Amino acid sequence: MNHAPYVDLDRLVPDYVKRFEAYIPSKPDPELMRLYGVDHLHRLNNNENHLGPPEPSRRVLEGFPPPRASLYPSGDAWYLRQRLGQKFGLDPEQFLVGNGANEVIAFVIKAFCQEGDNIVTADKTFAVYEWVAEFSGFEARLVPLKDFGFDDQGMLEAIDQRTKILFVCNPNNPTGSFWDEARLKGFLDAVDGRQIVVVDEAYIEFVERPDFPDGMRLLTQYPNLVVFRTFSKMYALAGLRIGYLAGQREVVDVIRRTCVVYSVNALAQEAALAALEGDETHIRATRELIRREKDYLGRELARLGLTSHAGEGCFVMVRLPMSDTLAYRKLMAKGVMIRSMTGFRFPNWIRVSIGRHQAMQAFIQALEEILAERG
Ligand SMILES: *Cc1c(COP(=O)(O)O)cnc(C)c1O
Repeated sequence: MNHAPYVDLDRLVPDYVKRFEAYIPSKPDPELMRLYGVDHLHRLNNNENHLGPPEPSRRVLEGFPPPRASLYPSGDAWYLRQRLGQKFGLDPEQFLVGNGANEVIAFVIKAFCQEGDNIVTADKTFAVYEWVAEFSGFEARLVPLKDFGFDDQGMLEAIDQRTKILFVCNPNNPTGSFWDEARLKGFLDAVDGRQIVVVDEAYIEFVERPDFPDGMRLLTQYPNLVVFRTFSKMYALAGLRIGYLAGQREVVDVIRRTCVVYSVNALAQEAALAALEGDETHIRATRELIRREKDYLGRELARLGLTSHAGEGCFVMVRLPMSDTLAYRKLMAKGVMIRSMTGFRFPNWIRVSIGRHQAMQAFIQALEEILAERG
């Protein structure tokens, strides 16, 4: 060796990884509180459920026997899939459970895309579809939202010979817009099995509209449909990382090949299973809170003369007369963490998760103060 030790990253790293900018997660709360000089932080940035997990999940979490931590979990979330099969009237083999819905996004892209392929989704939606495609070397074709919603016609036009997957977030994070049953079916009919259509239903348990489509009930009719669900939002198990997909047997059998076994831990599997037992009471209480506080926010934001946009789901978008990233820092200094939306391609907008009344009041008060500071 006649030169300094080195690693030849230039040759080792694929171009699409070189081009990709890593996502930087926010620091842990105690670090943030130190940084911003506050002794409390209202987390309104991640659409978490502030009521916490359903009662039966709490019992599982409190009673988990430490020796169980030494054993590998079920490699395919066996009991949870049996329960999901029962709940939705499907075969347990039609489900794949992952380390959060985030992981099942990667399963699907790996299962269907090869060099030169692309995926189609919206420009302002959950960014993980786009990210996984791009850092894996596949083009993500982003169709602009239309009236805050996914543009079905635009998406159909973006399809070419190399399009493998269409991702639809229903209702959409961050806009809360949704396709009703007729529109979703019309889209699936138009695609006609030539692509996989993923419908991400991360927020479906929050939706109370009767015309909202339940992807699980469309699976029999549409063999190219794949539905995503998560335990992170309504079921308040985000910290345990567990979500799943459902589809027809043939499709799921293909996707299963790209799953990493044991990626879902034992505690998450058991807490998720229990969450489905306490289902109705928990969902009712959460929906009530969201409804009430969404109304409150709507009224207060109007009083402040701000434009807001609320659809289905546990979050609201607000347009600010200032930079959203600046607003983020100013709100943090007042103990309120929201999502700045430049990253969603909505500059000068923020997204606020709905939480308990005290947190909503703290947000409104902080917002009022930072707007007043501008003079
Ligand atoms: C939060 C969220 C997910 C990810 O959920 P995890 O199960 O926590 O990975 C997926 N899709 C959308 C639209 C989300 O908002």
